[in-house]
Amino acid sequence: MARDAASRPGDGNAFTRFFDRVDSALEPIFGAPPSVGGLEQNDAAELRTRPCPVCGRAIFEHTFDDLSGNIVMTCPTSERLPERAASGPLNELGMPAQGRRLERYEQRAAAE
Ligand SMILES: [Zn+2]
Repeated sequence: MARDAASRPGDGNAFTRFFDRVDSALEPIFGAPPSVGGLEQNDAAELRTRPCPVCGRAIFEHTFDDLSGNIVMTCPTSERLPERAASGPLNELGMPAQGRRLERYEQRAAAE
């Protein structure tokens, strides 16, 4: 091919060099995820006795359906735990703000 012949041997052409430079620039950002240490394997029996975050009953009381490829857990009761009241600033998704956003809110509140 003409492009390959025009490039220096062994280091690709301008197109591949461009993406090599992009890869090397982005690798520190999107490189391999850091190893996640400290996550202990949970005992299966202990997991079944944990309370459901939706209804509060133990997980083993629930039914699980795997009909559509997605596992759907059905609570044994229609009672639901009350939602925790959100206090403090929220992020753009309506979740409690964390990190820099929370720091900025606190700085603004302190400045007022
Ligand atoms: Zn439940």
